[in-house]
Amino acid sequence: AAKAAGGNRWTWFDPIMDQLAEADARLGADLRQAIARDELFLLYQPIVELPGGTPAGMEALLRWRHPEHGLISPDVFIPLAERNGYIVEVGRWVLERACEQAAAWQTAYGQNAPAKVSINISARQLAEPGFVAEVAQTLDRTGVDRRRLMVEVTETAVLSTGSAMDAVRELHDLGLQVALDDFGTGSSSLSLLVDCPVDYLKVDKSFVGGITTANAQAVIVQSLIGVTEGLRIEAVAEGVESAEQAHRLHAAGYRFAQGYHYARPMTADDVTAMLDEAANREPAASEPGAATG
Ligand code: C2E
Ligand code: MG
Ligand code: MG
Ligand code: MG
Repeated sequence: AAKAAGGNRWTWFDPIMDQLAEADARLGADLRQAIARDELFLLYQPIVELPGGTPAGMEALLRWRHPEHGLISPDVFIPLAERNGYIVEVGRWVLERACEQAAAWQTAYGQNAPAKVSINISARQLAEPGFVAEVAQTLDRTGVDRRRLMVEVTETAVLSTGSAMDAVRELHDLGLQVALDDFGTGSSSLSLLVDCPVDYLKVDKSFVGGITTANAQAVIVQSLIGVTEGLRIEAVAEGVESAEQAHRLHAAGYRFAQGYHYARPMTADDVTAMLDEAANREPAASEPGAATG
């Protein structure tokens, strides 16, 4: 081993790199079949309004049930799909599925349907010619109100190519809501907020987790409220895991939150059951007899 490290250091790593590349290629090939084999599905995690915790929106989060490896995290297969370019097809599937779901909720629950449905958009999709037109067509085909669809983009994705920010501007001009995801973890400065149209700033959970401490994260989480108020955009705290965090965030001025404290990502059926339950608890005002008494 010592000799390998001295003489030709790469002989040590070659087999490992080969294996990694092979595993990557194999998983990539599997991913290409995943849509046709019906292995992808979406979960939805509520974005709630503080302090009550009423759902204000649902973020679609992609899952892959691999026939051999079981459930694979998007943190693993999304980067893989980005590397092999398959993200464009996967992203198209997410867009269509989420819009169909949003339309179904809109039809069934009207005013009580989730006000917004969010989808995560990767850099490769933003750079794809015709992406914005495709989004517009999908909204028209499914009948989803443009203001109800939120696109979540990261700082890194917006700055990845020259055309990415143009695509975000066009989506915003169409009437879609734009959320800047994982804010604070990218490498950009606050000037991105000057150049890019943003409706919601999603403050990353790595900062939010520090709100109950005396650390710099707490100061940053609190200060960002001043920025969002000044820019007249909404702040969303990501990864809220405790009542104490929720309380501190509300006190700091946060209007929206998302995290395990409120709900984990859940199936569309579970969301529907939740909407049914809410409808039974609070009958619509237009219902016969509801106004009297
Ligand atoms: P994200 O968009 O920032 O989504 C939030 C992630 O945090 C989700 O992980 C969610 O399950 C997790 N999370 C929510 N609340 C909490 C909490 O209280 N504590 C902790 N520790 N985690 C929480 P998930 O579903 O594994 O997704 C990971 C990332 O994968 C997403 O981060 C997003 O960047 C990406 N992703 C997911 N679905 C899609 C998709 O359809 N398209 C694209 N391009 N990316 C996606
Ligand atoms: Mg997101
Ligand atoms: Mg995020
Ligand atoms: Mg993330």
